[in-house]
Amino acid sequence: MILAILIEVKRPKTKLINLSAINPVSMTQPHIPPDLKPIIDFHGHFCPGLVLGYRAAKAGMERIHAMRSEDEELIAIVENNSCAVDAIQYMTGCTFGKGNLFFRDYGKHVYTLALRPLGRGVRVSLKGTVFEKEDRNELIEQILSIDENELFDIQDVTIELPSHARIHESVPCSRCGEPVMETRIKEKDGKGYCIPCFNEKS
Ligand SMILES: [Zn+2]
Ligand SMILES: [Zn+2]
Repeated sequence: MILAILIEVKRPKTKLINLSAINPVSMTQPHIPPDLKPIIDFHGHFCPGLVLGYRAAKAGMERIHAMRSEDEELIAIVENNSCAVDAIQYMTGCTFGKGNLFFRDYGKHVYTLALRPLGRGVRVSLKGTVFEKEDRNELIEQILSIDENELFDIQDVTIELPSHARIHESVPCSRCGEPVMETRIKEKDGKGYCIPCFNEKS
């Protein structure tokens, strides 16, 4: 079932479920906690993966007494790029844009949170055998209601922290003229190019 969640979110999004569209007579419509609602708005649809990320973020943050990160005092390492990661970003304040979210492409529901400056953290990994429900809403309800220690292995860890995000100068590309972060400039024949222009030239 873990695989099913990951695969499900990678399909073309032809069958988005939004809350107002859920059949009102369904007896299995999940009860949505108030702090999950803004995450569903952010993500755009309501799905099991998102709920899994919500629970993982909650479990991890509680364990290390972390507050939502304003700058980079909290970092998150995520081992997949499924729907769950949107909940991780929203809850922890560790985001792609801020540079304190680190993606490892391992295809695993493993989420590590850690605090600067010491790297004191927690590793939250999904246990393999918990999901039995076929029905999507029943599955969501199960993920929402199951005890977190049945859902996850939660371990205290101390990790080596990735370096802080840095701000770099921009320099214009010699071909298209667009400003480019200096560390991404490619040199050829004494001129500096952005990566797309460099690739076109060579
Ligand atoms: Zn989703
Ligand atoms: Zn260019």
